[in-house]
Amino acid sequence: MQTKTSERLFQAAGGLLPGGVSSPVRAFGAVGGTPRFLVRGRGSRVWDADGNEYVDYVGSWGPMILGHAHPEVVRAVQETAAEGLGFGAPHPLEVELARAVQGFYPALERLRFVSSGTEATMSALRVARGFTGRELVLKFKGNYHGHADGLLVEAGSGALTLGQPSSAGVPEGYARLTIVGRYNDADALEDVFREHGERIAAVIFEPVVGNAGVIPPSTGFLKALRQLTREYGALLIADEVMTGFRVAPGGATERYGLEPDLITLGKILGGGLPAAAYGGRAEVMAQVAPEGPVYQAGTLSGNPLAMAAGLATLRVLKREPAIYERLEDYGLRLAEGLADELQRAGVAHTINRVGSMLTVFFTEGPVTGFEDAQRTDTAAFRRFFHALLEGGVYWPPSAFEAAFVSAAHKADDLERTLSAVRTAFA
Ligand SMILES: *Cc1c(COP(=O)(O)O)cnc(C)c1O
Repeated sequence: MQTKTSERLFQAAGGLLPGGVSSPVRAFGAVGGTPRFLVRGRGSRVWDADGNEYVDYVGSWGPMILGHAHPEVVRAVQETAAEGLGFGAPHPLEVELARAVQGFYPALERLRFVSSGTEATMSALRVARGFTGRELVLKFKGNYHGHADGLLVEAGSGALTLGQPSSAGVPEGYARLTIVGRYNDADALEDVFREHGERIAAVIFEPVVGNAGVIPPSTGFLKALRQLTREYGALLIADEVMTGFRVAPGGATERYGLEPDLITLGKILGGGLPAAAYGGRAEVMAQVAPEGPVYQAGTLSGNPLAMAAGLATLRVLKREPAIYERLEDYGLRLAEGLADELQRAGVAHTINRVGSMLTVFFTEGPVTGFEDAQRTDTAAFRRFFHALLEGGVYWPPSAFEAAFVSAAHKADDLERTLSAVRTAFA
């Protein structure tokens, strides 16, 4: 495989951009080697700057549920662009997209558009604090909610201690306002609430963890989350930036029958362009400026091109509900095919999958929490990743990410994928 152009570009980028990238995981730090500069995508396939073709399971990290360059989405963006790129004034497409989102998520009585998942979670927490008049938030180890200061926090020593920064530049005093709990551990959750419950403004969680590799929620954990937040008057924030419109039309909220107070959306919501949102109960969202005292704004919020891409994407999903059966079917066949190959090669593995998102952990199962996920053999993953890449399959370049199937993945993509895996293990 010829990769000279990517190598040359990465060299040049290194002098200009920290790590040569605009977001860390793209630098291939966890797997080594030269990241591919991708220049074209069509359906399930992407092409790099050297002309190599890959079956894509990154999907721009989630948004591309319809595959790349879906004609309806591209057309919507082109037509909107021809009228002007943005005005910083209300736009009809905001109303249309909000209504469309509500069609998938009836629980979103009102919502606010922003431009990234980070902004959505950060703003949802501010609203929760404004609404409850409390300061603490609870998150779970291994759940990712973007890079806002209060969320770049890890557990201190002992399960019940307040958080400490997980990134340089985050003030300790600020990190202490975040409690870090254990995912899928209802007992530990109860302990946290018994100790801090009266001061907790909100619990934010990934209803299916995607950012420690895929970890499905346990029923008991979901129940405890809703019960304890209600009992103590804290808001429950389902961070559906990744799972929204993916694990079901109405995301994890629909799939698991959740009743969150607030929901954050992103990724698929923008159809590949920068759009995200937070919303939920009308009385809570009435806190948001200009109606209420919680300030939150954005120059590019509700940008017409992003609204158009999101709306076109949601329209296709609404019109073709069979897409979700196809995603489930391909996801299942991919997981089973991978499991067969791993089995045959005698490699320890656990495959966690929820619909069209899946992770191969190179460890004996089950993987139900963050510590389990940490046991994955990252050296084995590195070899797996590079063998796939050489075989023309673009898998997420980290052992702790979800691979995404799109509606455009077909039988020949599956074949190419499994044949690359077979070669890898041979
Ligand atoms: C991707 C992601 C975010 C952050 O979204 P950005 O658009 O990258 O800021 C937040 N929460 C979850 C669950 C995500 O997967």
